[in-house]
Amino acid sequence: MSELRVAIVGFGKIARDQHVPAIAATEGVTLTAVASRNASLPGLPHFGTIEELLRDGPEIDAVALCTPPQVRRVQALAALEAGKHVMLEKPPGAAVTELDPLMALAAAKQRTLFATWHSRYAPAVEPAREWLSQRQIRSVRIDWKEDVRVWHPGQGWIWEPGGLGVFDPGINALSILTRILPEPVFVTEAELSFPSNRQAPIAANLSLTTASDLPIAAEFDFRQTGPQSWDIRIETDTGQLKLSLGGARMTADDQLMVDEKEREYPGLYRRFVALTKTGVSDVDLAPLRLVADAFLLGRRTLVEPFED
Ligand code: NAP
Repeated sequence: MSELRVAIVGFGKIARDQHVPAIAATEGVTLTAVASRNASLPGLPHFGTIEELLRDGPEIDAVALCTPPQVRRVQALAALEAGKHVMLEKPPGAAVTELDPLMALAAAKQRTLFATWHSRYAPAVEPAREWLSQRQIRSVRIDWKEDVRVWHPGQGWIWEPGGLGVFDPGINALSILTRILPEPVFVTEAELSFPSNRQAPIAANLSLTTASDLPIAAEFDFRQTGPQSWDIRIETDTGQLKLSLGGARMTADDQLMVDEKEREYPGLYRRFVALTKTGVSDVDLAPLRLVADAFLLGRRTLVEPFED
């Protein structure tokens, strides 16, 4: 069977930390080139932009767009027009509505558009979904609090419009939430804290619910020093489920059910390879819509300036 030849576009933190090793570890996919303005990988053809890659580069079947969300739509458009499959890092775009034309183009070209949600591939997410499907859920609480200086050093784009601020990690929690709950979720209230010198929130408190009035509270904070939290606690009629470490660990009634090494990106690439065999797309906008609604409904508070 022929290998899926992939080029990475935007060779920053996530490309180095996750995409390169995941491609190396996944059958059926080969890293063929890199397109990035400033970074390259020794031994691989390098191009400054996706346009140069598509024009002058080696034969490729697909691109993995690891650039910030604000520039990905134009890159995805160029790749799809050139007949390439496209993997989008999360969030799938800087705006919800920009995805519709991309989905239409992918369908017309019979190419895969894969909007990845890496946290959904954390080892405890599917077991949690299964555990919850047997129970009545009473309430959900999310605490997603990390130190932006540790995890996003010098990433100016995250503070620009479309960069999402604290929703950049927070949307990972929402991607898990929308996977494990048995019914759709919507936002009812949001409080957003904006540093006075930035265009994106540094913290957010959300109230969400479902058609059956399930109370869901989420706290996202980029100012967490010391222990970091990526936790979701769910009360049910027969006990509590806790997902921690971003979905790598699951306890149910204090009993450890899952505790595995993180293996999200190989899962993403296996899925991408499978999708490209038939050219179907996988684009679930539910997490991005929740973030957009938090911005629509959010009460804004100005807080102290943020300096990197
Ligand atoms: P990053 O370290 O800033 O890397 C993005 C790269 O894209 C940059 O190194 C830059 O490379 C290129 N780029 C930046 N601005 C550009 C522009 N205006 N035009 C073209 N290229 C540009 O960011 P990252 O952490 O890898 O995040 C990228 C995406 O992955 C984000 O959507 C993020 O949410 C997602 N993600 C990140 C993580 C994480 O832990 N960091 C985890 C999961 C998902 P050149 O300067 O060489 O062009």
